[in-house]
Amino acid sequence: MPPVYILMTMDCESAHIDVSKHGRSMSSSGPADYEESERSIRGFVETIEAAGYPATLLLHPEVAAAHSEMLLDVQSKGTCLGLHLHPYKLVDSAWQDDLGSYTTEEQRKILSEAIEQWERALGQKPAYFRAGYFSANDATFRVLEELGFRGGSLSNPGRRLATHFSIWGDAESYPHRANTAFRSATGDSELIEVPVAVAYGRPVAQGHAGEAGYEWPYIPHTYDHGAVIENIFSRFIEDQPRFGTYVTDTHNDHDYSDPTANASRNLRGILAAIESVSASLDLEPVGITLDALCDQVREETK
Ligand SMILES: [Zn+2]
Repeated sequence: MPPVYILMTMDCESAHIDVSKHGRSMSSSGPADYEESERSIRGFVETIEAAGYPATLLLHPEVAAAHSEMLLDVQSKGTCLGLHLHPYKLVDSAWQDDLGSYTTEEQRKILSEAIEQWERALGQKPAYFRAGYFSANDATFRVLEELGFRGGSLSNPGRRLATHFSIWGDAESYPHRANTAFRSATGDSELIEVPVAVAYGRPVAQGHAGEAGYEWPYIPHTYDHGAVIENIFSRFIEDQPRFGTYVTDTHNDHDYSDPTANASRNLRGILAAIESVSASLDLEPVGITLDALCDQVREETK
């Protein structure tokens, strides 16, 4: 049976107490405080682990600092930790906009600031990345590569959200070596990009972030997740990619430790649909973390 890789990610945002008024007006996602954040992260990691899937947590630097002990503990048990970043959410930030709005030199400065804070919190440099709103431009992969990143999940194919500098029309659908000149294409970088899986058969004129594009597996969305999974997995049967990968995302402001919370219900529905759709299409779901998947893609695309 061909594998379908299951990559469960969470963007862990700074708590609102750490974010400026401008930062909150740019992106309201995120927990009120770090107790809410911890409940959400623990609940998410434990729920998916119980179903046999490891977690990938992309952490804003302040969250890395707030939960360093818990994060190092889950990392030692197989969770992948990476960096998540909205420039305007950094503490005392001079940066007012999303990452894709900045020049090469500016992105180098912004990312270096974030890396330094993340490293101070966790005693290691981040090697995996996703920007807030999937915001990026053609300088982003080049800067990430220079700064020592090994991989990321930066793209959301088909997304058009110009207000947040997030344009991914016609972007490559499957995990690939990043292209350091043109972000939407496959390249020859050592840095591996794992696009979010989108349902091309289910276009949306205005999604939850105001974007045009396609439905995709953001867990708290009200989309019909079973239908999204069916559309994505059927594409894997048709395209037969080496790395057909279903990438979910969520935030640390949904209480996954409460089974009655809407996001918890959605997550249970997603886990059940992964099993049932895989069985009906003769696919074998294989849980994987972002670092392990990037290593495999790099190894097999020499
Ligand atoms: Zn974010």
